[in-house]
Amino acid sequence: MKVYACTEGRSGQVDAVSLEMIAAARQMVEPGDEVIAFFAGSSKEDACAKLGSADRLIAAVAPGAEIVAADVYARQLCATIAAEGAGAVVVPYSANGLDVASAVAVRTGWPLISYVDQIERNGDTLSVVARMYAGKVLAECEAPLPAVLMVNPGAFKEADIAPIPPERVQVADASSAVATSGARPIAIDLPDFSDVDLKAAERIVCVGRGIGDEASIDLARGLADLLGAEIAGSRPVVDSGWLPKLRQVGKSGQKVKPRLYIALGVSGAPEHVEGMGQADTIIAVNTDPKAPIFSVAHYGSTCDLFDLISSLSERLQTTSR
Ligand code: FAD
Repeated sequence: MKVYACTEGRSGQVDAVSLEMIAAARQMVEPGDEVIAFFAGSSKEDACAKLGSADRLIAAVAPGAEIVAADVYARQLCATIAAEGAGAVVVPYSANGLDVASAVAVRTGWPLISYVDQIERNGDTLSVVARMYAGKVLAECEAPLPAVLMVNPGAFKEADIAPIPPERVQVADASSAVATSGARPIAIDLPDFSDVDLKAAERIVCVGRGIGDEASIDLARGLADLLGAEIAGSRPVVDSGWLPKLRQVGKSGQKVKPRLYIALGVSGAPEHVEGMGQADTIIAVNTDPKAPIFSVAHYGSTCDLFDLISSLSERLQTTSR
């Protein structure tokens, strides 16, 4: 069986989530099966340098295309599937992946399961766990193969970065598909990281809606200062204007990988975990013992976050004297 791991990136660069898709695809292979990384972009070099943990790489290349729109990506992938066959397709739950997964499912007629966190294969059937409703519902689903799975970023540990030998790489020309596409990406508007680059932070203290109000963020900021950490927030905190957008962690914010991540009053919705699930050590503080954040945390406490901030800050102040 061939399992396609859909990779993502722009300007010919491969995003880290691509390695997670290879790891997710590996969950369902049996001896004799193949994991094929599918890439679409302006050049194949970065994909060739990084995606060697797949058995093969198929790169749809359109020189000059900084972004390959989802409709082109899906068409190229479906053409490959038609030529080679497939047993399953793994797509990241992302802005691009939402469009790619649904287009592939419609074109092939295969079932699509979204928000996948766990995958198990039993012969010709997949058993998967889908994390839905901001992580509050875990749905156990079964699907016959072939199938399309849209996988939550952060759910699978990245496969190793490795170069892929040229004999395992196949290149397709996507130029005419890009030229005839109805969707034309016009510009890439990147944020200005001059205030803070959370991606480079070794320690992060992240506050969620549990912090209650804007004034209380200063308490968490004080703790962050004592720890030499950056302060960050979940989306509701940023949407409320309590922290700037560049300090948002998650799907529509920054993807961070610090050595230490302290989540204070964060529920752990999949969209948040997508941005921090790969941190080395995660400490979660949440009064709700059933909060999904505890399923990714290495250490957790159900104490009140304000109690923790005050006792930990006091301890750090004492030891630094
Ligand atoms: P809540 O879910 O309200 O959780 C607050 C938690 O605080 C609760 O679990 C509660 O038990 C706990 N709590 C309350 N008081 C205390 C206390 N005193 N002490 C300890 N614990 C306490 N979210 C992001 O964070 N980042 C994103 O980039 C992002 N992108 C998204 C993109 C899309 C397309 C969509 C649909 C959603 C996105 N979201 C994102 C939103 C996400 O689904 C959640 O709604 C959000 O993460 C919830 O934020 P929260 O955990 O701060 O708040």
